[in-house]
Amino acid sequence: MRLTRKTDQAASSNKAVLGLNRRQFLKSASLATGGIAAASMLGAGMMRKAEAKDVPHSAPTEVKRTICSHCSVGCGIYAEVQNGVWTGQEPAFDHPFNAGGHCAKGAALREHGHGEKRLKYPMKLEGGKWKRLSWDQAIEEVGQKALDIRKESGPDSVFFMGSAKFSNEQAYMYRKFAAMWGTNNVDHSARICHSTTVAGVANTWGYGAQTNSFNDIRNAKAMMFIGSNPCEAHPVAMQHILEGKERGAKIIVVDPRFTRTAAKSDEFVHIRPGTDIPFIYGLLWHIFENGWEDKTFIAQRVYGMERIREEVKKFDPAEVENVVGVPKEQMYRVAKLLAETKPGTVVWCMGGTQHHVGNANTRSYCILQLALGNMGVPGGGTNIFRGHDNVQGATDFGLLFDTLPGYYGLKTGSWKHWCNVWDLDYEWVKNRFDQEQRLGQDPMTSTGIPCSRWHDGVLEDKSKIAQKDNIRMSFFWGQSVNTETRGREVRDALNKMDTVVVVDPFPTMAGVMHERTDGVYLLPASTQFETYGSVSASNRSLQWRTQVIEPLFESKPDHVIMYKLAKKWGIEGEFCKHIKVNGDEPLIEDMTREFNKGMWTIGYTGQSPERLKMHQENWGTFDIKSLEAPGGPARGETYGLPWPCWGTPEMKHPGSQILYRTGREVKNGGGNFRARYGVEHNGNNILAEGSYSKGSEIKDGYPEFTDKMLKQLGWWDDLTAEEKVAAEGKNWKTDISGGIQRVAIKHGCIPYGNAKARCIVWNFPDDIPLHREPLYTPRRDLVSKYPTYEDRMVARLPTLYKSIQEVDFAKDFPLAVTTGRLVEYEGGGEETRSNPWLAELQQEMFIEINPADAADRGLRDGDDVFVHSPEGAKITVKAMVTPRVIAGECFMPYHFAGVFEGKSLEKNYPEGTVPYVIGESANTVMTYGYDVVTQMQETKSSLCQISKA
Ligand code: SF4
Repeated sequence: MRLTRKTDQAASSNKAVLGLNRRQFLKSASLATGGIAAASMLGAGMMRKAEAKDVPHSAPTEVKRTICSHCSVGCGIYAEVQNGVWTGQEPAFDHPFNAGGHCAKGAALREHGHGEKRLKYPMKLEGGKWKRLSWDQAIEEVGQKALDIRKESGPDSVFFMGSAKFSNEQAYMYRKFAAMWGTNNVDHSARICHSTTVAGVANTWGYGAQTNSFNDIRNAKAMMFIGSNPCEAHPVAMQHILEGKERGAKIIVVDPRFTRTAAKSDEFVHIRPGTDIPFIYGLLWHIFENGWEDKTFIAQRVYGMERIREEVKKFDPAEVENVVGVPKEQMYRVAKLLAETKPGTVVWCMGGTQHHVGNANTRSYCILQLALGNMGVPGGGTNIFRGHDNVQGATDFGLLFDTLPGYYGLKTGSWKHWCNVWDLDYEWVKNRFDQEQRLGQDPMTSTGIPCSRWHDGVLEDKSKIAQKDNIRMSFFWGQSVNTETRGREVRDALNKMDTVVVVDPFPTMAGVMHERTDGVYLLPASTQFETYGSVSASNRSLQWRTQVIEPLFESKPDHVIMYKLAKKWGIEGEFCKHIKVNGDEPLIEDMTREFNKGMWTIGYTGQSPERLKMHQENWGTFDIKSLEAPGGPARGETYGLPWPCWGTPEMKHPGSQILYRTGREVKNGGGNFRARYGVEHNGNNILAEGSYSKGSEIKDGYPEFTDKMLKQLGWWDDLTAEEKVAAEGKNWKTDISGGIQRVAIKHGCIPYGNAKARCIVWNFPDDIPLHREPLYTPRRDLVSKYPTYEDRMVARLPTLYKSIQEVDFAKDFPLAVTTGRLVEYEGGGEETRSNPWLAELQQEMFIEINPADAADRGLRDGDDVFVHSPEGAKITVKAMVTPRVIAGECFMPYHFAGVFEGKSLEKNYPEGTVPYVIGESANTVMTYGYDVVTQMQETKSSLCQISKA
C-alpha cells in the first residue's frame, strides 16, 4: 500500500480527509484558500493574527534564531517575521548541529505561526457542549476544584502530567509548582520513552544521558543501532551518521523490523522482540571466548565483569539462535566487527527501553561498551537518542515522580537543598504535603504515581494504593494520553475523574476521548515560538530560543498559566520568591539564574542566560566536527555548554562534550566514571584503579568531594572566606557557593569522585541484566526457563507480572507486535497531524504485516483490518503488506488518535480543532506490562491477532 498517493485518481476511502492526493486533501481540509475561510469562522475579536499573504513583500524582515521543537536533535532555524507575522523560515546553514539540514517536520515549523487547528480560548464542557470562558473564569473554576479536592482527599488526588516540550525554565517551574502544591504525582513522557535508560545508565556509571553527541558519531568507526531508527526518528542525525559511513565506518542495525535505517546498514540483524539481553550476551560470548575484551580498561574502570562473564556462559551460539533467532555465523561476524573496529558507538532508543526489563536492557548495552573499552573517547560511547525536543531538559529538571530537579531524589536532605535554593522554610514546604504515612510510605519522600499508570491511580481500589485517595483530577499539560497503553482503562479513568484539565495548544486526547458531558477544561497554551528560553538537546547542549511571534489567539505561555494558578492557590509569593514577575509573567532569565544556583549534581550551574545567548549569537563559530569554538567570543567552549558545565558561570567551564573522558582535564570537559555508590561493595574496592582524568593531582580513584575531604587533602584554604561559610557541612552537590567544585577542579579532580562503572547494580531487583520473556510472549516454551517477576507493589501501585505471563495468550493472539515512529509525525501526533504540510504526507493509520501472515488471513495490501488485543480491545486500521516485518511479527506507528475502537471522536472536539488526520491509536490495543524499576510501559513486545474488517 502506498500511503502517500501520487495519482489524481479518487481515493477509495470514503472518509473526508484521508487517502487523498494533495489537491483533494487541501480542498477538503479548507486549505486551498490559505486557511482564511476556516479562520473567518472564529468570531469577532478572536483573530489576533494576520496571514502571511496579507503582509506586503516590502515590509521589513526580522530574522529570529530559534530551535525546532519536533525532536531532540535540536536543529537551528532562522524564522523570518514581517509586521509580527511569521512569513518564512530557513534551516540555519551555520548551525553546529544541522548545518542547513532539516527534515519534513522542521520544514513545516512555520505552521506554528498559522495554527488554524489550535485551541483559541479557554473552554469548558457543560451539558455536552463546549462553552467559551474568560481566563479569569477558567483559572477561578479550575483552581477552586483543585482546592476542594485537596480538602477532601489530600494533595495527592491531583495529578500533574507535564510536558517534554516545556523550555528548561518552564520544566523547572512545573516541578516546583507540583512541589508547592504538595505532591510527587508529577511526571512526563520521559517515563514512557527513556526512563529505563536514565535509571539503568545512571546506575552503571553515574549519569543517565547520551555520553557523546550526534556530531561525534562522525568519529566512530563502527555504529550499532539497537531499537533505534534515526532515519525516521532523528532524521538530521543521519547527516553525521552518513558522514561517518563515508569515512568508512560500518553500520550495524539490530531490530525486529527492516527499517529505513537498516537500508543504510552493512549488517542488519533481526532479533525477536524482547530478546535484547540474550543478543548482547551472545555477542559477549564471542568476545570473551576470543579474548577480544579490553582487559586493561576493565581492570581499571569496571566493577563486576566477572559476574557478567558467568551469566554470558549460558548464552552460547545455540541458545542465542533458539532464543533470539540469530544464527551463530552472524553473531560471530558482528562481535568480531565490533571488537576489531574501534572506536565504536552504540545507539538505542525506545525499541530498547520500552520493555518490562527495559532498565536491564540499557545496562546490557553499557556492559557491551565497557567490555570493548569504548567509553570516554571520541567516536565511542552510548549515544542514547532522546525523543521530544526538550525531553532531556524536562528529565534533568525532575519532571518525574521520583526526583527533584537535578536527580536529587526525594529524601529529606534533597528537599532541604531545594528549600535552601528557593529560600523557603522547609517546614512550610513539608506542610503542603499529606502528613500521614500511607501503606508505610511517607508521601513527601516516596515516589508518586507514574504517568504510564495515572489511570490505575484513578481506577484502582483506593485501599491498595499508597496515598490517601484515588486521583480525582488531573492536569494533562502538554502530553496526550494516546501515548499510554491500555486505551480502554485510560478512557474509563477520564470518565471517572471529577475534573479533567487539558493545558496545551491543542485539545489532545484527554479532552476528547472520554464519554463525559461535564467537568472538562481546555486551557490554550502557547507554543515555544510564542515565548523564549533554553532547551536541552539530546547531547546535553543547552540552546537559547528567541521568541518568534506574539502568542496567537488567547493562548498564554505555560509559565504564565502556572503563575495564575499559583495566585489562585495563594502560593505565588513562595513560587516566585526571587523571580521577578511582570504582570502575571515570571521573568525567564530569573528562572535560569535560580536553577543555576541549585543544579550542582549535573552541572547545570555554569550556563547563565548571558552565556547561552552568546552561543546563540555565534552559531557559525563552532566547528561541526568537534562542536568547539576555535576562536571568537566562545573560544575554547563547546556549543551549548553541554552539562556538566561545572561551577558558577564566572568559572567559565566550557561544558562536557564527551562524558567520562579521562584524556582531558576536568577544566576542559574531561572526567571519569562517577563515585555514586560508596567506595566498596562486599569488601571489594569500587573506586577506579590507576585511572584518572588528565592533570588530576590524585593519581587513583577517589570518593565524591565534601567539606571534610577538602580539609583532609589540605585544600580547604583554597576556598575564600565566604565560600568556607557556605561549604561547611556540605558536599559538592549541596554547597550552593560552588566553592567545593571550584577547588576540586583547580586540583584537576572531578567533584563527583572517580570510581569504576558497575555491572552489578545491587539496589535493583535484578542486580545484573537477566533475560525474562515478555509478559505477552509467543514463546511459551521459554517461560519456565526465563520467567518474569512475581507480582509486587511498585510506585504506590500493585503491579502484575507473573499473573499475566502464566496465561497462554499466544494460542489466540499469535502475532508479536511492536510500535514505532514515522518521520512525518511526533509523539501522540496531535500537533503534527494538525499541521497541513505534514498531515498530507501520511494520511492513514496502518499495521505492517508480512505477506505470509496476510495470505493466511486472506488479506491484501490496503485492506481494512481489525487488530485484536489479548486484553479485549479492537481497532480498525489499514493493512500494509510488506516483508519489512517477518512472518509472525507486525508493526504499528503510535502517532494516531481521534478514532477509538472504530468510532470517530470528531464530534467531541471543539469546533475547528479536529486534526487534519485522525486514526486509531496503536496504544488502544497495547497491553499491560511495566518496567520493574521505572514503570516504563512494555510496547515493544506484545501480542495481537489481525483479521479482515
Ligand atoms: S524534527 Fe528533529 S531532525 Fe527534524 S528538523 Fe526538527 S530537530 Fe531537526
